[in-house]
Amino acid sequence: MDTDSRDKLLADVEAFCQEVRPVEDLCYLEHRFNDQAIDLARKHDILGLNVPAAYGGRGADVRTYVHALTRIGREGTGVRTLFSGHCSIGQTTVLEWGTEEQRRRVLPRTAAGRTITAFGLTEPEAGSNPREMQMTYRREGDRFLLNGVKYLISNGSIADLIVVFAYPEATGDPAGDRARRFSAFMVETGAEGIEREMMTAKVGLPTSDTSMFELTDYPVPVDNLLGAEGQGLAIAMQTLRAGRLSVAAGCLGVIEDCLEEACGYAKERSQHGKQIARHQLVQEHVAGIELARQASESLIHTAADAKQAANDHPGDAALAARADLLVAEAKLFASDAAFRAADSAMQVFGGRGYSELFRPGRHWKDVRVCRIYEGTDEILKLKIAAGVLGKEYEAYR
Ligand SMILES: Cc1cc2nc3c(=O)[nH]c(=O)nc-3n(C[C@H](O)[C@H](O)[C@H](O)COP(=O)(O)OP(=O)(O)OC[C@H]3O[C@@H](n4cnc5c(N)ncnc54)[C@H](O)[C@@H]3O)c2cc1C
Repeated sequence: MDTDSRDKLLADVEAFCQEVRPVEDLCYLEHRFNDQAIDLARKHDILGLNVPAAYGGRGADVRTYVHALTRIGREGTGVRTLFSGHCSIGQTTVLEWGTEEQRRRVLPRTAAGRTITAFGLTEPEAGSNPREMQMTYRREGDRFLLNGVKYLISNGSIADLIVVFAYPEATGDPAGDRARRFSAFMVETGAEGIEREMMTAKVGLPTSDTSMFELTDYPVPVDNLLGAEGQGLAIAMQTLRAGRLSVAAGCLGVIEDCLEEACGYAKERSQHGKQIARHQLVQEHVAGIELARQASESLIHTAADAKQAANDHPGDAALAARADLLVAEAKLFASDAAFRAADSAMQVFGGRGYSELFRPGRHWKDVRVCRIYEGTDEILKLKIAAGVLGKEYEAYR
């Protein structure tokens, strides 16, 4: 990406962030989905951040994409999750696994924000282990019919197109059924046979759409199969590499915001006859957040470079494995660091920190999810250990 395009893209992201902040503030306090964020993102043309210009997007390289998501992350994990769902795990799947025809058919409208996307892997009975999913498909003429429930899906109620994973229906032959592998489909949500429900009883993220949906004999044209039949696990895992990096970048944004908020408040607020910023134990909080910021940034930028190398050499298994490992490390570290940074910033704010009127408390509630979605802390630790010990030591199979 050339410098001018990069600067323009980041300026558009900045303009979006400034406009979305007051809306997000209000929606947060009213505990409702931010229904203006997409319009604002569309207005600033930032819904195709990582989609190449040839398909109508902004063509961000991985580093630029990380900078954009970091900036958006400062506005809150809710807003950033919209982008992770749409750009990082929705569109990326089509970009990396779609045929040329599928990319041309889908990406221009997703990049323009006319079609919002989501990624539906998790089910009530299948989270950390997607192989335990129960959603099925069967072929009928020139379409597949999908049946099952997806759960905890970001953008799940608002998406016009959801990447959905499903097994072929069981045939009754035990050996054949045991060997089944799941596939990925682009599900356009406008047909009969889909029931969606936004999940509102969440600990945080009130402004983000987290939904469940049920498909009943839901028709999907055969042209909407992504990759080959049975390739779903590889598709999901490769896509999650992009998703995890976006989560890590968002967490870095949270840490940056916590640092700014904590420093600003500590200089404003006086107790015991001086600014609280002059009390050494308050400075300890500031030092901790700064350390979290610096360490997270290093890990994330290293991971971004590794992902760029893997993107530039598709099919190079060693580069892909290195990117997987470094992205897992960055996501595990940054999500924990962001949660601690929010906790420290809350502490600096004292009683006000415990109010949703101030940003640290919101970050604290919202960023907690980053230790759960797109790979829990535990699964990422096992993944990192296997990356070091060797694939045969994978403890989460
Ligand atoms: C707000 C939100 C948004 C989300 N968005 C999406 C989305 O857009 N798309 C999507 O597909 N999913 C999404 N998810 C789902 C998320 O990815 C899953 O919740 C996550 O993968 C964990 O799965 P689970 O909830 O079923 O927990 P489980 O897998 O049941 O895990 C429960 C606990 O057991 C631990 N555990 C499980 N297996 C092992 C093991 N082998 N070794 C050690 N510990 C283990 C876990 O680490 C965890 O601590 C979202 C979740 C939330 C909360």
